[in-house]
Amino acid sequence: MLKWLGHSAFELNTSNKMLLIDPWISNPNSPAKVKDYYNADYLIVTHDHSDHLGDAVEISRNSGAPIIAVFELANFLNESEKVKTIGMNIGGPLKLTSSLSVFLTQAFHSSTHGAPTGTIVKTDTATIYHAGDTGLFGDMKLIGQVYKPDIMLIPIGGFFTMNPEQAAIAVQMVSPKIAIPMHYDTFEAIKQDPLEFARIAKGLSPGTEVVVLKPGESIELR
Ligand code: ZN
Repeated sequence: MLKWLGHSAFELNTSNKMLLIDPWISNPNSPAKVKDYYNADYLIVTHDHSDHLGDAVEISRNSGAPIIAVFELANFLNESEKVKTIGMNIGGPLKLTSSLSVFLTQAFHSSTHGAPTGTIVKTDTATIYHAGDTGLFGDMKLIGQVYKPDIMLIPIGGFFTMNPEQAAIAVQMVSPKIAIPMHYDTFEAIKQDPLEFARIAKGLSPGTEVVVLKPGESIELR
């Protein structure tokens, strides 16, 4: 099960493990409370901006879940916040269990500690690509070829990341079975209509189903 918690935050439940990506659970559109996630097993943080690092430190402290992030960010959090981290880099995999592994991918964005990233999470039922915060870049095509994501989580808010038109081109390059828009409507600067994204993406990539979730809604992995 993959649940959107608003902004770029997702909860993934697979093989009795709970993994959170970019766990800003206290975002303005969140349906959940941070303490609901004190039972998380793993946290992935794509980069150190506060809307992505979010509540990772509090959740890690209370759950013991390690924060998986690019090497420099993982070291920084381990030293400054004394939380458990796993520092890796673009490439991978990090094998968490026999049926769950994590890769980091390139993302075109900025960050203070280490490179900004996207992430691939491979489960025994689906491969998920969370693009992080990123502009459009041509090697998304390579990410599609190498990892063959079933589900792509893609920022459409514009201003800081891709806008709906650019995100639709990204979907065309990656060619996932399902694309889910994220990183919009959290603040004024990133207000967007996800249905406009769905319409353009459908035109460019007819084989992809665009699923527009509301915060708190989920899909089953397939
Ligand atoms: Zn960012």
